[in-house]
Amino acid sequence: MNCLAFRRQLLIDPRQQDADFRAHAEVCATCAQALQRALDLEESLFNALIQEYPERAGIDHATDSDPTADPDGMQRTRRGKTR
Ligand SMILES: [Zn+2]
Repeated sequence: MNCLAFRRQLLIDPRQQDADFRAHAEVCATCAQALQRALDLEESLFNALIQEYPERAGIDHATDSDPTADPDGMQRTRRGKTR
C-alpha cells in the first residue's frame, strides 16, 4: 500500500484493521501521524456525542423496538407543545 491508498482508506475508516493499512502505518511515519490525528478526532467526536446524548451513546438501534424511542413520537410531542 502506498501513501495515497493509505490516505484514502484513512478517510473511509481510520479504525479499520486491514493488514496492509496497519503495515503501512508502521513503516511510514508521516502516515502514522495522520492516522493518530484521525483517531484523536474520532475520539473527540465520540466523546462529544456521549456528552450530547448520554442515554443513547453506544446503544444505537438497540431501542428501535421500544415505542417510546419512536422519532415520530418526539415530533408529535413537539407539535403538541406549540399549540
Ligand atoms: Zn505513507
